[in-house]
Amino acid sequence: MSRMDRPGYLVLGRWKGAAIRVHLSAPLGALLFSGFDYRPLQWLGFLVLILAHEIGHATVARWAGAQVVSLDVHAIGGRCVYYDGFAGALARAFIASGGIAAQVGLWLLTLLVLDGPVDLRPTLGETGVKALQDFTVTNFLVAALNLLPLEPLDGAEIWKLPPLLAQRARSLVRRSLLKRRASALERAIRDPEQEDQGEDGPRLLH
Ligand SMILES: [Zn+2]
Repeated sequence: MSRMDRPGYLVLGRWKGAAIRVHLSAPLGALLFSGFDYRPLQWLGFLVLILAHEIGHATVARWAGAQVVSLDVHAIGGRCVYYDGFAGALARAFIASGGIAAQVGLWLLTLLVLDGPVDLRPTLGETGVKALQDFTVTNFLVAALNLLPLEPLDGAEIWKLPPLLAQRARSLVRRSLLKRRASALERAIRDPEQEDQGEDGPRLLH
């Protein structure tokens, strides 16, 4: 399928119901990453990388129960458009991390092809090896850009993840302590004679 969807976007296809769209400015981004050199393989790598990044977001978004509308590629990267519904701050931070997670996966795959146990370099040839090395550089540049803690880049949400996880861990610990205290109280009410010092007795550490 090839048609104009929103102004300036070309719909290339669909991924699990979400439109894959390329903005007319995308070639400029590809050119920017190739240093305005004629490198079609690197341009293709840019497209593959951005799409994989957006599919990473979309996969986590679907796990979180969000509805993914489109995966877009444009001059300075891409975007995943989704309705988060009832997704909380933690889910949003995980969805934001999905793009970088996909890039890490691609980096490991590239590393395996270039320097894995099977020597694929003779099969790839000089052009293939160079293309994969350029792909790794593009991967690092896009990841570094996305990790900047600035709106609307992923970094703005990703760096909220450590404090949000710590907060979740604290509330889980607090909940389990409250549950233990409630069951101790329940036991005390049921059998007031029985002395229960297991929970509140003195403790020593050496
Ligand atoms: Zn992203």
